[in-house]
Order: sequence, then C-alpha cells, then structure tokens
Amino acid sequence: MSQIKRILVTGGAGFLGSHLCERLVAEGHDVICLDNFFTSQKSNVEHLLGKRNFELVRHDITLPYWLEVDEIYNLACPAAPGHYQYNPIKTMKTSVLGAINVLGMAKRCKAKVLQASTSEIYGDPEVHPQPETYKGSVNTLGPRACYDEGKRAAETLFMDYHRSNKVNIRIVRIFNTYGPRMHPYDGRVVSNFIRQALANEDITLFGDGSQTRSFCYRDDLVEGIIRTMNAPDSFIGPVNIGNPGEFTIRQLAELTVEMTGSKSRLVQKPLPADDPKQRQPDITLARKHLGGWEPKIPLREGLKKTIEWFRSIDMSHYRAPTPNY
Ligand code: NAD
Ligand code: UDP
Repeated sequence: MSQIKRILVTGGAGFLGSHLCERLVAEGHDVICLDNFFTSQKSNVEHLLGKRNFELVRHDITLPYWLEVDEIYNLACPAAPGHYQYNPIKTMKTSVLGAINVLGMAKRCKAKVLQASTSEIYGDPEVHPQPETYKGSVNTLGPRACYDEGKRAAETLFMDYHRSNKVNIRIVRIFNTYGPRMHPYDGRVVSNFIRQALANEDITLFGDGSQTRSFCYRDDLVEGIIRTMNAPDSFIGPVNIGNPGEFTIRQLAELTVEMTGSKSRLVQKPLPADDPKQRQPDITLARKHLGGWEPKIPLREGLKKTIEWFRSIDMSHYRAPTPNY
C-alpha cells in the first residue's frame, strides 16, 4: 500500500499550520491547505505553491467542504486572545461547526482526524502542572469563554463521533507555542515583546508579570502533533503537547530585552479578565506514547531563532488582522 497520504490541514496558512504543511509536503504527502486567511496571509505558504503535492484552498471551515482525504489536521481557529475575542460568536462557530464539518468528512472518507485543542480548556487551573485528567476551571461567562468553551465543545464532538460513529480521532492539547511566522500583530506575548523590543518601545507587562506560561518552540510542537497522528489507533489522546519549562512573564520580558540588546522599559498595564495565573503541561503521557518525543529546544535557543526571523521581515507587509492587537 502507498505510504503517500492525502492530507487536509485546516488553518494551514497560519503560524503552526504553515509549518505543518511544510513538514508533510517534505515527506511527500499530497497536502491540501484550507484557510480563510482571517489571522494569516498567503505569504506563509507562498514557498509551497509551486510544489506538485501542495494545494491551497480559500474556504471558511464553518461551511462544509467536499474532499476525499486520508487524514485531517483541524487547526482552523483564531488562537491569540485579541483575535478570538474580535468576533467571539464567529470563534465559537469556527470551533463547533468546524469540528462538525471535519468530523463529517472524516466519517464519510473513513479518514483519521486530529483536533488542535488547547491548554485553555483547563482555564485558570487549580492543579499544577496540568495533567490530561484535570477537568479544568473555565469561566463560562468571561471574554475567553468563546475560545475555551468552543474548544471544549469540539473535544466533546470528537469523542462523540468516535464513540457513536467509530471515527478514528486524535486530540492534542497544545500549550503556548512560539516561533518564526507568528503574526507580528497577533498580540501574543512573545510576538508583542519581540516587536516592542526591536523598536525600543515600552514592553507591556500585563499585571505585575508574575503569571507564568511554559513556552514550546514551533518545531517541537509540530513534531509532537505528527507523532500523535501516527500513533497506534489505541492512543487517541487527549494528550498535552508543550514544553514544561515554566517562566514568569516578567522573566520573558527581561530575557527578550537582554537578547535583543533593546533600550525598552518594562511598563505595567492592566491584567486582562480571566488571565490564567499559571500554566505548565504535564507531558508524562506524551513521553510514554509518542515514541520518545520530548521538547528539545529551550526558550533561549527558540527565542534566538524567533528574534532573527522578526529582524528579517518587513512589518509593513503584515496588516493588523483586527483592531484589537
Ligand atoms: P493562527 O491564527 O496563526 O492560525 C489559525 C489559522 O486558522 C489561520 O491561518 C486562520 O486564518 C485560520 N482560520 C481561522 N478561522 C478560520 C475559519 N473559520 N475557516 C478557515 N480558516 C480559519 O494560530 P496558530 O497559533 O497557528 O494556531 C493553530 C491552531 O492551534 C489553532 O486551532 C489554535 O487554537 C491551536 N493552538 C495554538 C496554540 C499556540 O500557542 N500557538 C496554543 C493552543 C492551541
Ligand atoms: N501578556 C503580557 N503582555 C503582552 C501580551 C501578553 O504581559 O503584551 C501576558 C498575558 O496577560 C498572559 C501571558 O502574557 O498572562 C500570555 O499571553 P498570550 O496572549 O500570549 O497567551 P495566553 O494568555 O493565551 O496564554
């Protein structure tokens, strides 16, 4: 049987999706990248357009799409708080209707389908670090709920299609990931701090900067999700994928200033509502089931590559996708 698979990547022009497409194209698979370009642009996959095994489709995943495929990676969803809060109802539709549409396609084609879920399903966690068994603490009424609850509902749909219709699924819970091709105006902490540091502008610390995040470099993350897709069918997840190296946001700001040689000052801004105080993945399950997978790139090394990329781009080529950045 041919090892070449027909693979759909929804959200394939985004930060993580474009790198995933690159990896799958390099492995020789037939890759279809589907995106509505809400938070990305064609330039992220421009270098793949001439390849015989790559196709780009402009489509919104809230509407059904008819394809014959063997595997689906479902990444389509705005991921940065400013982006997903711009049109919260659309964000929820993207998670829920998007899941229904890819699951329907997977059921019809007998394809395997992977959901890009998130550490946000744990909300502002009372258990630290977070294992997959932790059920989470999400405020259903807050401004982050459109994303958190949308992703939680998508996990539910994945499990129900699996139980009721025997769809072959995988669920990965992605923790904060950074790297080249992050949208410079997405408002996420790594892109904001690097952009501000390179321009010698004030570094915006939300709150006192004592909240923590654990930062995973893009390549480690993409390796983890490919391995989850290729894991035996007995292992469907959910599985945490991230780097347990935990830092306060103030430490990240200081490191960014040091590594860019910036003159920026750290200034405090109000902490957004429901901002999680701490976050660190327990990756015991991933280590056990994903063939020795382990994040390899420490923060300093990943930041160096990311800063180099930010230095190399022309910011004027990136439009701010929403007024909320
Ligand atoms: P991103 O915003 O760069 O990528 C998302 C892509 O989905 C974009 O290209 C966007 O245009 C597309 N998209 C959005 N709505 C769509 C729709 N309705 N139809 C078609 N395409 C649509 O973000 P990313 O960081 O690459 O995130 C990719 C996935 O990983 C998302 O599902 C996100 O929730 C998940 N995730 C990412 C992180 C992270 O730290 N990067 C953490 C947790 C989960
Ligand atoms: N943050 C910050 N300054 C910024 C952007 C973000 O201090 O300019 C903080 C934010 O409040 C949060 C952390 O950095 O505590 C991570 O924010 P991000 O939006 O990157 O991801 P998420 O909150 O979804 O983990």
